[in-house]
Amino acid sequence: MKTELLRISDPTDPRLVKVGQTLRNGGLAAIPTETVYGLAANALDEKAVEKIYEAKGRPSDNPLIVHIAHFDEWKPLVKEIPESAERLAKAYWPGPLTIILPKSTLVPMKTSGGLDTVAVRMPGHPIARAIIEKAGVPLAAPSANTSGKPSPTTASHVLHDLDGKIEYIVDGGECTVGVESTVITLVGDRPRLLRPGGVTPEMLESVLGKIEIDPAVFNKLQEGTVAASPGMKYKHYSPTAEVIIIKGDFEKYKSYVEERADENTAALCFDGDAEKLCGISILTYGEETDSASQANRIFEALREADEKGYQTVYARYPLADGMGLAVFNRLVRAAAFHIVEL
Ligand code: AMP
Ligand code: MG
Repeated sequence: MKTELLRISDPTDPRLVKVGQTLRNGGLAAIPTETVYGLAANALDEKAVEKIYEAKGRPSDNPLIVHIAHFDEWKPLVKEIPESAERLAKAYWPGPLTIILPKSTLVPMKTSGGLDTVAVRMPGHPIARAIIEKAGVPLAAPSANTSGKPSPTTASHVLHDLDGKIEYIVDGGECTVGVESTVITLVGDRPRLLRPGGVTPEMLESVLGKIEIDPAVFNKLQEGTVAASPGMKYKHYSPTAEVIIIKGDFEKYKSYVEERADENTAALCFDGDAEKLCGISILTYGEETDSASQANRIFEALREADEKGYQTVYARYPLADGMGLAVFNRLVRAAAFHIVEL
């Protein structure tokens, strides 16, 4: 299959009509969102959804997020919308927040990975919403990368992973948030955060009161436990290079990495650290005190590690609260939970 790359900055661009039609008719297109690029298909069409799993090499029990453009498209997808869900959506949609509720029969089991719940999000990116509108159906859209690899934050990342496997890549520029959406489930007694993202725990609690944070956000799932969010049990966000997170102050980090420097090794550190480190290759992921800039850069930096062919990457430990929780959650998985405390 030939993949057509369309550079589109205007949500009224007429070329979005053919992208929408292709999706409605069962094809695949990568679309820009404010979080990461999504690999979209008609969420209500089992055959189309199957193609997503195939193109990504994604395990079929890992459910997809369904994307909508308007509030009234939510109701048909779920059993009912509790008042708490409505308040949450009003506060943060359109935006980087996914809400899980019991699903209606309209949503195929293929889309929900065999679960009786469905994850729904209204993306903030105007081009994403325009594409959903043109398709006229809700769109299932996981990240547009090969399963397990760092998520794509530019169209060229998507091209690298999916060229020849999908009909279109819509290039809408760089993703502003840079990590996937916050996922919260409202199924069960208490709201529970399954994946941290651009909407922070504090932002959720300001609407819902106290929420639980699923242990899988911080820790590796133990063998044999059932994952609340099946995606959490898979190896994730990993470059080919081995990533090791170094916890400790900058001076300790500096001597640790400088001792281990060679041509196959890089320091994954913050903007401005380059001048302070000697004899080691540098990758950076944002400013030390700005979690949003780290989220924006983390996946690109991990991809750069592979492009440059490093075998080992020593990452500086990020701030791990607020938006930083999302950064830590991705980095610790890229590192397969390997943290060295100095
Ligand atoms: P991605 O599509 O790559 O952003 O991944 C979607 C994430 O949301 C995965 O971690 C899924 O396991 C999770 N997810 C989607 N739908 C559900 C659901 N119904 N229940 C629990 N987790 C879900
Ligand atoms: Mg993903």
